[in-house]
Amino acid sequence: MFDFFKGKKNKPTVYKRPQHCISRKNIDRDALKVLYRLSQFGYTAYLVGGGVRDLLLGREPKDFDVGTSARPAEVKKAFKNCFLIGRRFRLAHVRFAGGKIIETATFRRNSQTVGEIIEHAAEGPLEDNTFGTPETDAYRRDFTVNGLFYDIKDFSVIDWVGGMKDIEKKIIRAIGDPEIRFQEDPVRMMRAVKFSSRLGFKIERKTLSAMKKYHSCILNAALPRVCEEVFRLFPYGRSREAFRLMWDCGMLGDLLPELSAHIKSSGGERSAVWKYLSVLDKYEIMMASKGYEVSNALRAAVLMTGLFKAEKKDGQGEPGNSREIMGTMLRSLKIPKAVYFTASLLLESSRRLSAPPVKGKGRFVYNRDFLDALDYNRIVFRAEGRDESVLNAWSDLYEEKGKKE
Ligand code: ATP
Ligand code: MG
Repeated sequence: MFDFFKGKKNKPTVYKRPQHCISRKNIDRDALKVLYRLSQFGYTAYLVGGGVRDLLLGREPKDFDVGTSARPAEVKKAFKNCFLIGRRFRLAHVRFAGGKIIETATFRRNSQTVGEIIEHAAEGPLEDNTFGTPETDAYRRDFTVNGLFYDIKDFSVIDWVGGMKDIEKKIIRAIGDPEIRFQEDPVRMMRAVKFSSRLGFKIERKTLSAMKKYHSCILNAALPRVCEEVFRLFPYGRSREAFRLMWDCGMLGDLLPELSAHIKSSGGERSAVWKYLSVLDKYEIMMASKGYEVSNALRAAVLMTGLFKAEKKDGQGEPGNSREIMGTMLRSLKIPKAVYFTASLLLESSRRLSAPPVKGKGRFVYNRDFLDALDYNRIVFRAEGRDESVLNAWSDLYEEKGKKE
Protein backbone atom coordinates (compact mmCIF):
# COMPACT_ATOMS: atom_id res chain seq x y z
CA MET A 1 0.00 0.00 0.00
CA PHE A 2 2.70 2.46 0.90
CA ASP A 3 4.21 2.55 -2.53
CA PHE A 4 6.18 5.60 -1.64
CA PHE A 5 8.41 3.61 0.65
CA LYS A 6 8.14 0.17 -0.85
CA GLY A 7 11.48 -1.01 -2.10
CA LYS A 8 13.31 2.01 -0.72
CA LYS A 9 15.89 1.48 1.99
CA ASN A 10 14.33 3.67 4.62
CA LYS A 11 16.12 4.85 7.69
CA PRO A 12 14.59 6.63 10.62
CA THR A 13 15.90 9.86 12.06
CA VAL A 14 17.17 9.12 15.54
CA TYR A 15 17.13 11.87 18.17
CA LYS A 16 19.59 10.99 20.91
CA ARG A 17 18.83 11.73 24.54
CA PRO A 18 20.30 15.28 24.59
CA GLN A 19 18.32 16.16 21.44
CA HIS A 20 14.84 15.80 22.98
CA CYS A 21 13.10 16.58 26.24
CA ILE A 22 11.64 13.20 27.26
CA SER A 23 12.77 12.29 30.73
CA ARG A 24 12.10 8.96 32.41
CA LYS A 25 10.80 10.76 35.46
CA ASN A 26 7.76 11.82 33.42
CA ILE A 27 7.02 8.28 32.26
CA ASP A 28 4.61 6.17 34.26
CA ARG A 29 6.56 3.81 36.56
CA ASP A 30 4.60 0.75 35.52
CA ALA A 31 5.08 1.54 31.83
CA LEU A 32 8.83 1.76 32.56
CA LYS A 33 8.68 -1.65 34.25
CA VAL A 34 7.11 -3.17 31.13
CA LEU A 35 9.66 -1.51 28.84
CA TYR A 36 12.65 -2.60 30.94
CA ARG A 37 11.48 -6.16 31.37
CA LEU A 38 10.81 -6.69 27.64
CA SER A 39 14.19 -5.16 26.91
CA GLN A 40 15.92 -7.46 29.43
CA PHE A 41 14.29 -10.42 27.68
CA GLY A 42 16.02 -9.28 24.49
CA TYR A 43 13.02 -7.74 22.74
CA THR A 44 12.78 -4.30 21.23
CA ALA A 45 10.52 -2.19 23.46
CA TYR A 46 9.29 1.31 22.68
CA LEU A 47 6.90 3.77 24.19
CA VAL A 48 4.59 4.59 21.27
CA GLY A 49 1.78 6.81 20.06
CA GLY A 50 0.08 9.62 21.97
CA GLY A 51 2.25 9.15 25.07
CA VAL A 52 5.44 10.08 23.20
CA ARG A 53 3.70 13.02 21.51
CA ASP A 54 2.39 14.41 24.79
CA LEU A 55 5.74 14.00 26.60
CA LEU A 56 7.50 15.90 23.80
CA LEU A 57 4.91 18.67 24.17
CA GLY A 58 5.33 18.79 27.94
CA ARG A 59 1.75 17.59 28.43
CA GLU A 60 0.65 14.84 30.75
CA PRO A 61 -0.17 11.73 28.65
CA LYS A 62 -3.57 10.13 29.14
CA ASP A 63 -2.09 6.68 28.72
CA PHE A 64 1.24 5.02 28.03
CA ASP A 65 1.27 2.39 25.29
CA VAL A 66 4.12 0.02 24.54
CA GLY A 67 5.16 -1.38 21.16
CA THR A 68 7.41 -4.41 21.04
CA SER A 69 8.99 -7.07 18.85
CA ALA A 70 7.77 -9.73 21.32
CA ARG A 71 4.77 -11.72 20.09
CA PRO A 72 1.67 -11.67 22.31
CA ALA A 73 2.42 -15.11 23.75
CA GLU A 74 5.96 -13.99 24.55
CA VAL A 75 4.68 -10.88 26.32
CA LYS A 76 2.36 -13.08 28.35
CA LYS A 77 5.28 -15.30 29.34
CA ALA A 78 7.30 -12.30 30.52
CA PHE A 79 4.59 -11.01 32.91
CA LYS A 80 2.45 -12.95 35.32
CA ASN A 81 -0.05 -10.07 35.45
CA CYS A 82 -0.64 -10.15 31.69
CA PHE A 83 -3.86 -10.93 29.79
CA LEU A 84 -4.31 -11.30 26.06
CA ILE A 85 -7.35 -9.67 24.53
CA GLY A 86 -8.82 -9.37 21.05
CA ARG A 87 -9.32 -12.13 18.56
CA ARG A 88 -7.99 -10.93 15.25
CA PHE A 89 -5.10 -8.97 16.57
CA ARG A 90 -4.10 -10.00 20.04
CA LEU A 91 -3.16 -7.23 22.40
CA ALA A 92 -1.43 -7.79 25.71
CA HIS A 93 -2.78 -5.98 28.75
CA VAL A 94 -0.27 -5.86 31.56
CA ARG A 95 -2.20 -5.07 34.72
CA PHE A 96 -1.00 -3.14 37.74
CA ALA A 97 -2.36 -1.95 41.08
CA GLY A 98 -5.39 0.32 40.99
CA GLY A 99 -6.71 -1.21 37.78
CA LYS A 100 -3.99 0.40 35.69
CA ILE A 101 -3.34 -1.29 32.36
CA ILE A 102 -0.30 -0.89 30.16
CA GLU A 103 -1.36 -1.82 26.65
CA THR A 104 1.43 -3.72 24.96
CA ALA A 105 1.16 -4.43 21.24
CA THR A 106 3.42 -6.36 18.92
CA PHE A 107 4.66 -4.24 16.01
CA ARG A 108 2.10 -4.44 13.24
CA ARG A 109 1.86 -3.83 9.58
CA ASN A 110 -1.24 -2.79 7.71
CA SER A 111 -3.16 -5.81 6.55
CA GLN A 112 -2.85 -6.46 2.84
CA THR A 113 -4.86 -4.28 0.50
CA VAL A 114 -6.73 -5.78 -2.44
CA GLY A 115 -3.98 -4.50 -4.73
CA GLU A 116 -1.30 -6.27 -2.76
CA ILE A 117 -3.23 -9.52 -2.63
CA ILE A 118 -3.51 -9.52 -6.44
CA GLU A 119 0.10 -8.48 -6.85
CA HIS A 120 1.37 -11.29 -4.64
CA ALA A 121 -1.20 -13.92 -5.62
CA ALA A 122 1.32 -16.04 -7.49
CA GLU A 123 3.51 -16.33 -4.39
CA GLY A 124 0.63 -17.71 -2.33
CA PRO A 125 -0.67 -16.06 0.81
CA LEU A 126 1.80 -14.17 2.93
CA GLU A 127 2.87 -16.14 5.93
CA ASP A 128 1.99 -13.40 8.34
CA ASN A 129 0.37 -10.19 7.34
CA THR A 130 -0.46 -8.94 10.81
CA PHE A 131 2.81 -8.51 12.60
CA GLY A 132 5.48 -6.22 11.29
CA THR A 133 8.59 -4.25 12.05
CA PRO A 134 9.02 -0.91 13.83
CA GLU A 135 9.05 0.65 10.38
CA THR A 136 5.72 -0.83 9.23
CA ASP A 137 4.26 -0.10 12.65
CA ALA A 138 5.16 3.58 12.30
CA TYR A 139 3.67 3.85 8.80
CA ARG A 140 0.34 2.28 9.73
CA ARG A 141 -0.33 5.04 12.30
CA ASP A 142 -2.56 8.00 11.53
CA PHE A 143 -0.54 11.22 11.91
CA THR A 144 3.16 11.96 11.96
CA VAL A 145 2.94 13.36 15.51
CA ASN A 146 1.48 10.01 16.61
CA GLY A 147 4.12 7.92 14.86
CA LEU A 148 7.13 8.49 17.14
CA PHE A 149 8.89 5.84 19.25
CA TYR A 150 10.81 6.30 22.50
CA ASP A 151 13.44 3.55 22.77
CA ILE A 152 14.09 2.36 26.33
CA LYS A 153 17.44 0.86 25.27
CA ASP A 154 19.21 4.20 24.81
CA PHE A 155 16.46 6.77 25.58
CA SER A 156 16.42 8.00 21.99
CA VAL A 157 13.37 9.04 19.96
CA ILE A 158 13.05 7.12 16.69
CA ASP A 159 11.26 8.95 13.90
CA TRP A 160 10.30 7.15 10.67
CA VAL A 161 7.67 9.65 9.59
CA GLY A 162 8.94 13.18 10.25
CA GLY A 163 6.86 13.53 13.41
CA MET A 164 9.48 15.43 15.38
CA LYS A 165 9.63 18.31 12.87
CA ASP A 166 5.82 18.44 12.75
CA ILE A 167 5.66 18.65 16.54
CA GLU A 168 8.06 21.59 16.39
CA LYS A 169 6.06 23.22 13.61
CA LYS A 170 2.72 22.38 15.31
CA ILE A 171 1.30 20.54 12.33
CA ILE A 172 -1.13 17.62 12.02
CA ARG A 173 -0.09 15.74 8.89
CA ALA A 174 -1.42 12.37 7.72
CA ILE A 175 1.20 9.66 7.28
CA GLY A 176 1.28 8.68 3.59
CA ASP A 177 -1.35 9.87 1.12
CA PRO A 178 -4.15 11.51 3.14
CA GLU A 179 -6.76 10.71 0.47
CA ILE A 180 -6.00 7.00 0.80
CA ARG A 181 -5.65 7.04 4.58
CA PHE A 182 -9.01 8.81 5.09
CA GLN A 183 -10.85 6.49 2.72
CA GLU A 184 -9.28 3.51 4.51
CA ASP A 185 -10.57 4.77 7.85
CA PRO A 186 -12.73 7.92 7.80
CA VAL A 187 -12.65 8.24 11.59
CA ARG A 188 -9.10 9.51 11.09
CA MET A 189 -10.62 12.77 9.78
CA MET A 190 -12.32 13.30 13.13
CA ARG A 191 -9.09 12.44 14.89
CA ALA A 192 -7.35 15.15 12.85
CA VAL A 193 -9.98 17.61 14.12
CA LYS A 194 -9.55 16.37 17.69
CA PHE A 195 -5.77 16.66 17.75
CA SER A 196 -5.71 19.96 15.90
CA SER A 197 -8.17 21.61 18.28
CA ARG A 198 -6.84 20.00 21.43
CA LEU A 199 -3.17 20.77 20.75
CA GLY A 200 -3.68 24.04 18.87
CA PHE A 201 -1.95 22.56 15.78
CA LYS A 202 -2.71 23.49 12.18
CA ILE A 203 -3.88 20.77 9.82
CA GLU A 204 -1.39 20.51 6.97
CA ARG A 205 -2.71 21.71 3.58
CA LYS A 206 -2.98 18.37 1.74
CA THR A 207 -4.39 16.66 4.81
CA LEU A 208 -7.06 19.37 5.13
CA SER A 209 -7.97 19.31 1.46
CA ALA A 210 -8.36 15.53 1.62
CA MET A 211 -10.78 16.09 4.51
CA LYS A 212 -12.74 18.60 2.46
CA LYS A 213 -12.88 16.14 -0.43
CA TYR A 214 -13.75 12.97 1.48
CA HIS A 215 -15.73 14.33 4.46
CA SER A 216 -18.82 12.35 3.49
CA CYS A 217 -16.93 9.07 3.90
CA ILE A 218 -17.50 9.59 7.62
CA LEU A 219 -20.98 8.20 6.95
CA ASN A 220 -19.38 4.83 6.12
CA ALA A 221 -17.67 4.56 9.50
CA ALA A 222 -19.04 2.48 12.36
CA LEU A 223 -21.47 4.68 14.33
CA PRO A 224 -20.23 3.80 17.83
CA ARG A 225 -16.73 4.94 16.84
CA VAL A 226 -18.06 8.16 15.32
CA CYS A 227 -20.23 8.88 18.35
CA GLU A 228 -17.29 8.28 20.67
CA GLU A 229 -15.11 10.66 18.66
CA VAL A 230 -17.82 13.35 18.69
CA PHE A 231 -17.81 13.35 22.49
CA ARG A 232 -14.01 13.33 22.54
CA LEU A 233 -14.10 16.77 20.93
CA PHE A 234 -15.30 18.29 24.21
CA PRO A 235 -12.72 17.65 26.95
CA TYR A 236 -9.73 20.02 27.08
CA GLY A 237 -12.03 23.00 26.48
CA ARG A 238 -11.57 23.32 22.73
CA SER A 239 -14.97 22.24 21.45
CA ARG A 240 -15.59 25.57 19.73
CA GLU A 241 -12.50 25.16 17.53
CA ALA A 242 -13.29 21.48 17.00
CA PHE A 243 -16.85 22.03 15.78
CA ARG A 244 -15.75 25.01 13.69
CA LEU A 245 -13.36 22.66 11.91
CA MET A 246 -16.04 19.99 11.58
CA TRP A 247 -18.29 22.61 10.02
CA ASP A 248 -15.59 24.08 7.76
CA CYS A 249 -14.65 20.74 6.26
CA GLY A 250 -18.26 19.57 5.81
CA MET A 251 -18.29 16.69 8.30
CA LEU A 252 -20.78 18.43 10.58
CA GLY A 253 -23.18 18.67 7.64
CA ASP A 254 -22.85 14.90 7.13
CA LEU A 255 -23.32 13.96 10.76
CA LEU A 256 -25.76 16.61 12.03
CA PRO A 257 -27.37 18.18 8.95
CA GLU A 258 -30.03 20.08 10.94
CA LEU A 259 -27.46 21.71 13.18
CA SER A 260 -25.24 22.54 10.23
CA ALA A 261 -28.15 24.15 8.34
CA HIS A 262 -29.03 26.13 11.45
CA ILE A 263 -25.46 27.45 11.74
CA LYS A 264 -25.63 28.58 8.14
CA SER A 265 -28.98 30.32 8.56
CA SER A 266 -28.02 31.94 11.85
CA GLY A 267 -24.98 33.80 10.60
CA GLY A 268 -22.35 31.12 9.88
CA GLU A 269 -19.21 32.24 11.67
CA ARG A 270 -21.31 34.61 13.76
CA SER A 271 -23.90 32.02 14.76
CA ALA A 272 -24.74 31.88 18.48
CA VAL A 273 -23.83 28.18 18.39
CA TRP A 274 -20.15 29.13 18.75
CA LYS A 275 -20.86 31.34 21.73
CA TYR A 276 -22.62 28.52 23.59
CA LEU A 277 -19.68 26.23 22.88
CA SER A 278 -17.09 28.76 24.01
CA VAL A 279 -18.84 29.22 27.36
CA LEU A 280 -19.05 25.42 27.65
CA ASP A 281 -15.30 25.28 27.01
CA LYS A 282 -14.58 27.53 30.00
CA TYR A 283 -16.84 25.33 32.11
CA GLU A 284 -15.01 22.17 30.89
CA ILE A 285 -11.67 23.66 31.93
CA MET A 286 -13.00 24.70 35.34
CA MET A 287 -14.52 21.26 35.97
CA ALA A 288 -11.36 19.45 34.82
CA SER A 289 -9.26 21.54 37.20
CA LYS A 290 -11.46 20.22 40.02
CA GLY A 291 -11.09 16.65 38.79
CA TYR A 292 -14.63 16.31 37.37
CA GLU A 293 -15.70 15.30 33.90
CA VAL A 294 -18.66 17.06 32.31
CA SER A 295 -21.54 14.74 31.38
CA ASN A 296 -22.13 13.92 27.72
CA ALA A 297 -25.78 14.91 28.15
CA LEU A 298 -24.79 18.43 29.12
CA ARG A 299 -22.35 18.60 26.21
CA ALA A 300 -24.98 17.40 23.74
CA ALA A 301 -27.57 19.85 25.11
CA VAL A 302 -25.22 22.84 24.79
CA LEU A 303 -24.29 21.80 21.26
CA MET A 304 -27.96 21.75 20.22
CA THR A 305 -29.13 24.81 22.18
CA GLY A 306 -28.92 27.23 19.24
CA LEU A 307 -31.04 24.93 17.08
CA PHE A 308 -33.54 24.34 19.91
CA LYS A 309 -34.03 28.05 20.51
CA ALA A 310 -34.33 28.84 16.81
CA GLU A 311 -37.03 26.20 16.38
CA LYS A 312 -38.95 27.69 19.26
CA LYS A 313 -38.85 31.14 17.72
CA ASP A 314 -40.15 29.78 14.46
CA GLY A 315 -43.67 29.34 15.73
CA GLN A 316 -44.67 25.68 15.86
CA GLY A 317 -41.89 25.64 18.35
CA GLU A 318 -43.84 25.47 21.53
CA PRO A 319 -41.78 23.62 24.13
CA GLY A 320 -41.93 19.91 23.67
CA ASN A 321 -39.73 19.64 20.65
CA SER A 322 -36.57 19.12 22.72
CA ARG A 323 -37.02 15.40 22.06
CA GLU A 324 -37.18 16.13 18.36
CA ILE A 325 -33.99 18.17 18.47
CA MET A 326 -32.10 15.56 20.47
CA GLY A 327 -33.67 12.92 18.24
CA THR A 328 -31.46 14.16 15.42
CA MET A 329 -28.42 13.11 17.46
CA LEU A 330 -30.08 9.85 18.39
CA ARG A 331 -30.71 8.97 14.76
CA SER A 332 -27.53 10.12 13.11
CA LEU A 333 -25.01 9.33 15.86
CA LYS A 334 -26.86 6.72 17.91
CA ILE A 335 -26.05 8.57 21.12
CA PRO A 336 -26.96 6.42 24.13
CA LYS A 337 -30.64 6.59 25.11
CA ALA A 338 -29.77 7.89 28.57
CA VAL A 339 -27.83 10.79 27.06
CA TYR A 340 -30.77 11.50 24.75
CA PHE A 341 -33.31 11.65 27.60
CA THR A 342 -31.17 13.73 29.94
CA ALA A 343 -30.10 16.16 27.20
CA SER A 344 -33.78 16.66 26.25
CA LEU A 345 -34.59 17.38 29.88
CA LEU A 346 -31.75 19.92 30.02
CA LEU A 347 -33.07 21.75 26.95
CA GLU A 348 -36.51 21.82 28.57
CA SER A 349 -35.16 22.99 31.93
CA SER A 350 -34.42 26.47 30.56
CA ARG A 351 -38.10 27.28 30.59
CA ARG A 352 -38.57 26.13 34.16
CA LEU A 353 -35.45 27.73 35.58
CA SER A 354 -36.04 31.06 33.84
CA ALA A 355 -38.69 31.90 36.44
CA PRO A 356 -37.91 32.02 40.16
CA PRO A 357 -39.05 29.03 42.23
CA VAL A 358 -42.55 29.58 43.58
CA LYS A 359 -43.29 28.38 47.09
CA GLY A 360 -44.36 24.78 47.05
CA LYS A 361 -43.53 24.45 43.35
CA GLY A 362 -39.80 23.93 43.54
CA ARG A 363 -39.89 20.18 43.28
CA PHE A 364 -37.48 20.24 40.35
CA VAL A 365 -34.60 20.51 42.86
CA TYR A 366 -35.32 16.88 43.76
CA ASN A 367 -34.73 15.75 40.19
CA ARG A 368 -31.49 13.76 39.94
CA ASP A 369 -30.41 15.91 37.00
CA PHE A 370 -31.08 19.18 38.79
CA LEU A 371 -27.42 20.14 39.25
CA ASP A 372 -26.68 19.41 35.59
CA ALA A 373 -29.71 21.52 34.70
CA LEU A 374 -28.49 24.38 36.86
CA ASP A 375 -25.03 24.26 35.27
CA TYR A 376 -26.54 23.95 31.80
CA ASN A 377 -28.61 27.08 32.40
CA ARG A 378 -25.64 29.00 33.79
CA ILE A 379 -23.82 28.25 30.54
CA VAL A 380 -26.81 29.35 28.44
CA PHE A 381 -27.43 32.50 30.51
CA ARG A 382 -23.75 33.47 30.36
CA ALA A 383 -23.63 32.94 26.60
CA GLU A 384 -26.70 35.11 26.19
CA GLY A 385 -25.47 37.74 28.65
CA ARG A 386 -28.52 37.31 30.90
CA ASP A 387 -28.80 38.14 34.59
CA GLU A 388 -28.26 34.98 36.62
CA SER A 389 -30.08 35.99 39.80
CA VAL A 390 -33.01 33.70 39.04
CA LEU A 391 -30.59 30.77 38.87
CA ASN A 392 -29.09 31.83 42.20
CA ALA A 393 -32.57 31.61 43.71
CA TRP A 394 -32.88 28.02 42.47
CA SER A 395 -29.43 27.26 43.77
CA ASP A 396 -30.39 28.64 47.22
CA LEU A 397 -33.48 26.46 47.25
CA TYR A 398 -31.33 23.44 46.48
CA GLU A 399 -28.98 24.30 49.36
CA GLU A 400 -31.95 24.63 51.73
CA LYS A 401 -33.20 21.23 50.69
CA GLY A 402 -29.77 19.83 51.57
CA LYS A 403 -29.96 21.38 55.06
CA LYS A 404 -33.40 19.96 55.73
CA GLU A 405 -32.45 16.41 54.80
P1 ATP B 1 -5.25 10.28 23.30
O1 ATP B 1 -4.39 11.21 24.07
O2 ATP B 1 -6.58 10.89 22.93
O3 ATP B 1 -5.37 8.91 23.87
P2 ATP B 1 -3.68 8.95 21.28
O4 ATP B 1 -2.79 9.49 20.21
O5 ATP B 1 -3.04 8.16 22.37
O6 ATP B 1 -4.51 10.17 21.88
P3 ATP B 1 -5.34 6.64 20.84
O7 ATP B 1 -6.71 6.61 20.28
O8 ATP B 1 -5.14 6.30 22.27
O9 ATP B 1 -4.79 8.12 20.56
O10 ATP B 1 -4.44 5.73 19.91
C1 ATP B 1 -3.08 5.42 20.21
C2 ATP B 1 -2.23 5.45 18.95
O11 ATP B 1 -2.70 4.48 18.00
C3 ATP B 1 -2.25 6.77 18.19
O12 ATP B 1 -1.31 7.67 18.71
C4 ATP B 1 -1.94 6.35 16.77
O13 ATP B 1 -0.56 6.17 16.59
C5 ATP B 1 -2.61 4.98 16.67
N1 ATP B 1 -3.98 5.07 16.13
C6 ATP B 1 -5.13 5.21 16.83
N2 ATP B 1 -6.20 5.24 16.01
C7 ATP B 1 -5.73 5.10 14.76
C8 ATP B 1 -6.33 5.03 13.47
N3 ATP B 1 -7.64 5.15 13.32
N4 ATP B 1 -5.51 4.88 12.40
C9 ATP B 1 -4.18 4.75 12.54
N5 ATP B 1 -3.55 4.81 13.72
C10 ATP B 1 -4.30 4.97 14.83
MG1 MG C 1 -4.12 7.18 23.93
